[in-house]
Formats: sequence, C-alpha cells, structure tokens
Amino acid sequence: MSLALEAVQVTKEYTAPSGDGAIMAVDGMEMALEHGEFVALVGPSGSGKTTMLAMLAGLLMPTAGAIRIAGQDLTMMKERERTAFRRREIGFTFQDNNLVPYLTAIENVEYMLRINSAYDRQGRERARELLVRLGLEDRLQSLPRQLSGGQQQRVAIARSLINQPTLVLADEPTASLDTERAFQVVETMAQLVHAEGRAAIMVTHDLRMVEYCDRVIQMVDGRLERVLTTREDITCLVNPALCERIPMALLGFAEDEALNVQYVEL
Ligand code: ADP
Ligand code: MG
Repeated sequence: MSLALEAVQVTKEYTAPSGDGAIMAVDGMEMALEHGEFVALVGPSGSGKTTMLAMLAGLLMPTAGAIRIAGQDLTMMKERERTAFRRREIGFTFQDNNLVPYLTAIENVEYMLRINSAYDRQGRERARELLVRLGLEDRLQSLPRQLSGGQQQRVAIARSLINQPTLVLADEPTASLDTERAFQVVETMAQLVHAEGRAAIMVTHDLRMVEYCDRVIQMVDGRLERVLTTREDITCLVNPALCERIPMALLGFAEDEALNVQYVEL
C-alpha cells in the first residue's frame, strides 16, 4: 500500500507586499506519513506550519515540490479534480473553524456528508457517534453561536473526520480548550487515527499535547529542523523538567528553547 502522505521538497514563496523581495514561508520541506500515524508539527510562530498545512490540504499551491496523498499528486490535479479529491481524502480544521452559522452542531458535521454524497443512515449515525466521543452529546442541536469556542472547535474536529479521510490536518485544535479538555480531545483524535488507520498532522503550540503523537516534526524558518521519533525523546519534550536522563541539549534543543517553544498555560 502507498504511503498516506508524501511531501517532497515542498516550497512556498510569497511575494512581499511592497513588491521587493520574497518570503520563503516553506523551504524544501519533506514529510512521509504511514496510514495510522499521528504526527505533531511544532515550531516557533512564523516558521511556516500553517502554510505547510494549507498546501497539504490542497488549499494553497506550492511554488515547487510534490504532495502525494494515497499515491496521488495534488499539485498535478486540475482545480476541480483537486476539490473533489480534497472532499474525499482530506479532513481539516484550521484555527478559524468556519462552522456554518445557521446549521446546528450535528448539521455542520452532516453537511460534509452531503457534499460528498454520503448522507445516509450510516453516515448520520457516525456523525452522532463522533460528536458524542468528543463530549458534545448534549450539544448536538446547538447552533455555533450557542457553543463555547472549545465546543465549536470540537464540532470542527468531528467534521474533519466524518468522511473517513486518508489525511487529517488540524491547526492548533486545542487552542481554545482548557487543559483537561485539550488532553481529552487530542487523546480521542489519537485513538480515532490509530483505530481507523488515518494519517494525521496536528500543529500545536502546547508541547504537552505531543504525548499522544507517534512522531514530532519541528520546523524553523520554513525548514525541517528535526524529527523526534522515540517515546523517550517525545516524553522529554512533553516534560523537560522531569527529564534528567536525557538532557534537552542532547535532543538538540537549547535548554531555554525547549521551554520557549510557547509552553502555554491554558
Ligand atoms: P506559522 O503557522 O508557523 O506561524 P505561517 O505559515 O503562518 O507560520 O507563516 C510563515 C511565514 O510566511 C511568515 O513569515 C508569514 O509572515 C508569511 N506569510 C504567511 N502567509 C502569507 C501571505 N498570505 N502572504 C505573505 N506572507 C505570508
Ligand atoms: Mg500558524
């Protein structure tokens, strides 16, 4: 079976607003994900994480490079083909969750079934099940404006998973959740990804959340800086204070950098 995702030498150059010079937002990024892998993408603000995710979602075209999802190159598709492919194979939540304001929580999730011609009893049952697993059992009939930011974010996560995509992309899915809820949501995402064999990438500022990830990819200045793959290394990142055995310096993180990668108190 082909890899779930393969990104090869992906580059995005933005033209500067003033017209002089260009910004290399993403510079030769490489990534490969197997089916069933849950990967964290971390890095300082401005390092290109959102730009990378938007390209993987087929929403933004790279300046150069290839993005293959389930063996098919997004960059080679015509616009219409890419839109249809995205609906089928890619689920995403971005910081701004974009729920439809006049649809209820469950209707927002079911809407994704409709545009994919998959609105049947099984699909509706799955929409309900996902929302329940994400702790929204008593919120199914609420409109987005009747939900807290965190609840809206969880509806968006359910929506990203409803069509059983090959690739799931989440940009800071826990940003507006309290700590306990954030852990629950990421743990649920990890369980669903592992159980259903999806590949997922979660951008996060909160290093505690990488505990549930199989791998951590760090970007700096648009480039791949390092990849942490072992449980030990990932545990160190989650809690550097507890990690005497493997000093952060050995992982290649400066002591202050590790604490600095925005260790947010939620
Ligand atoms: P991150 O998500 O890691 O904070 P971004 O991908 O949002 O980083 O941004 C990477 C770089 O690209 C930044 O320097 C940012 O200012 C720039 N950038 C992002 N979007 C645009 C855009 N639409 N036009 C020009 N520059 C952009
Ligand atoms: Mg971002």
